[in-house]
Amino acid sequence: MLQSKTNKYLYPMIEHLMDDAIAEVNAGNAQISCQKGCGYCCYLLVEISWDEAAELAKWINRQSPAKRVEWIKKIKKHSACVRKFFKDHKIGKRFVLPSDEHEEMPDSLFEDYADELNMSCPFLEKGKCAAYACRPTPCRLHVVSSPSAFCSHCHENEEEDIKVPRKIISVQKAVGHVMEKLYKDQLWGQLSIMVEAALKAV
Ligand code: SF4
Repeated sequence: MLQSKTNKYLYPMIEHLMDDAIAEVNAGNAQISCQKGCGYCCYLLVEISWDEAAELAKWINRQSPAKRVEWIKKIKKHSACVRKFFKDHKIGKRFVLPSDEHEEMPDSLFEDYADELNMSCPFLEKGKCAAYACRPTPCRLHVVSSPSAFCSHCHENEEEDIKVPRKIISVQKAVGHVMEKLYKDQLWGQLSIMVEAALKAV
């Protein structure tokens, strides 16, 4: 059984920091625009740790047998498309298999992923995250003050229209430092590929 540090330490800490940061932003001149039902950011390339994948795999295992089969099917369909995307682009080894290697990616690859794949995360159901309580760190830290529609990969506006308040950026940086220490020996990869692998281990 995998030992998870995420639910025990990381997620409560992020929740606390983000609640405070969001309250501070909302009390000032900017307003956080993220809300339930907006799933634009769930089309982006999300990279997660092995621990975070294990949390999501355990969430799938807690569902009814019929739902479990459905979730596994969705994960496999998504991971097959992601593998094909990276194979076609001949880059992204660290996303195709759980890996501890570091490979620099051009920013354009992240844009192409959302545009070409045009597939939401398999956990997005009717515009909401079905596994919200177990969502990984990048999803917990992705908060903007620009209009929600600007986050859509189909939207015509340039990326610079997306605004992240300074207070939120400082939380993202602080959490990044903690993650470097907490997960330094772990495997990393794209969300559905990692969850597919973790399902075999939990
Ligand atoms: S885990 Fe949930 S919040 Fe994160 S990308 Fe998937 S659906 Fe969106």
